[in-house]
Amino acid sequence: MRAAVLADIHGNLVALDAVLKDMEARGGAGQLWCLGDTVGYGPEPSKCIQRLRQYDHLCIAGNHEYASTGRVDTFDFNPDAAAAVQWTAEHLTQDDKQYLQGLSVTLVEGAFTMAHGSPRSAVWEYLVNSAQAIENFDYFKTPFCLIGHSHIPLYFEYLEEEGLCPGKRFEDGALLKLGKNRLIINPGSVGQPRDRDPRASYAIYDSDGRTIQLFRVPYDIAATQSEMEQYGLPRSLIDRLSKGV
Ligand code: ZN
Repeated sequence: MRAAVLADIHGNLVALDAVLKDMEARGGAGQLWCLGDTVGYGPEPSKCIQRLRQYDHLCIAGNHEYASTGRVDTFDFNPDAAAAVQWTAEHLTQDDKQYLQGLSVTLVEGAFTMAHGSPRSAVWEYLVNSAQAIENFDYFKTPFCLIGHSHIPLYFEYLEEEGLCPGKRFEDGALLKLGKNRLIINPGSVGQPRDRDPRASYAIYDSDGRTIQLFRVPYDIAATQSEMEQYGLPRSLIDRLSKGV
């Protein structure tokens, strides 16, 4: 079985379609596993939901799903993010909202737990360092955990005997072997990468080979940016796409 692991699509349909095309070119995947923040920031929230739903997929909720469906207010969002949340809420159909409201915040699938932020704080925690990772291993039971939210592709390997949990960047093309050590893995963001590489980021899990491989995919960033301009979305959100920050 193969699954494409996608996080933080953020309403960027051009990036999502580039990733899906790349996935097909690599032999496809039976399922999409989507780690939340399918909407928010980008110009096509509704179409991104529709695209996901064309596939056999699993999906959890992120903070942008919570905010754009009114499950939380935007108190903790910066002004541009809050403006984008408001815009997104106005551009979702009733059916989209129902779909988003029906998503749970964590899922367990085989050897994997999925949580948008972290297993400890599923919607909100930005899990980016070893100290956080080591604490978070107590909050899930499966060998592996998949997260998003920081938009940075990385993984933490728990070396239990040494009591260490080093974090590593998950680089383009890197192939992670799933062995006996537990892992927390972030496949990066499809629609708004923040590791100074503007290319879309995603991973493919292969259950036969017991591997997860990361891929970076160029897409037509200008096309998404001009659509955002047309809709009057905040300038900072438009500019960051070409910088990957
Ligand atoms: Zn996000």
